[in-house]
Amino acid sequence: MINVQIYRYHPEHDTTPYMQSKTLPEEFRSRMVLDALEYLRAEDSTLAYRRSCREGVCGSDGMNINGKNWLACIKPIAEAIGTTNTLIIRPLPGMPVIRDLVVDQTLFFEHYQTIKPWVINDEPAPTIERLQSPEDRKLLDGLYECILCACCTSQCPSWWWNPTKYLGPSALLQSLRFVVDSRDTARMERLKSLEDPFSLFRCRGIGNCTWVCPKGLNPMEAIGKLRLELLREST
Ligand code: SF4
Ligand code: SF4
Repeated sequence: MINVQIYRYHPEHDTTPYMQSKTLPEEFRSRMVLDALEYLRAEDSTLAYRRSCREGVCGSDGMNINGKNWLACIKPIAEAIGTTNTLIIRPLPGMPVIRDLVVDQTLFFEHYQTIKPWVINDEPAPTIERLQSPEDRKLLDGLYECILCACCTSQCPSWWWNPTKYLGPSALLQSLRFVVDSRDTARMERLKSLEDPFSLFRCRGIGNCTWVCPKGLNPMEAIGKLRLELLREST
């Protein structure tokens, strides 16, 4: 049997959150954490969590698994528990809990909206799409793949300390994605909006973001590049 400790909190019934003990059959060792949640939910339909695609693409089931943020659908249980034999599942840290593993991501998406995540270009649209050279298109690699799962931002200590003023690694990686896009004409405006001491410069290079990104992206490096772009424009 595999031991499970799972965070539970139903604000209408519980005065405080608590960790609930459960067990999984041995055969779950080779399966994913989401499979365990589905099994536990079949036993207790009050267990709440988000999920959708089950393929590591939609970004819905980010959660803290044995101390590290990850997507439940692509995290093997054997890898998560190592030699401990206990699977520990908590909601994403640093975000208010709505119920069980479901967190309020309002602030996270407000930050995303702040960076204007769309191509800004008021020039008349061509008859077909706005083209890019292969070299320009390559600049978006490592940025466009972000699925907005919030694993990085939720594991960032700088964001925990300044959640309203520091944009966090996910929004900043997305910001670079548009700053370097050859089709976008708002580069200066985008960079200027990051000049204050908090939005971008509150990153302390701790690297938790890159450590946890389940898509293998490097938000810490993206933040460094964004600073260089800003420096280049202001000298
Ligand atoms: S490198 Fe910056 S963004 Fe990433 S976790 Fe550390 S402080 Fe946060
Ligand atoms: S950078 Fe990675 S961890 Fe952060 S939101 Fe995007 S996919 Fe998730």
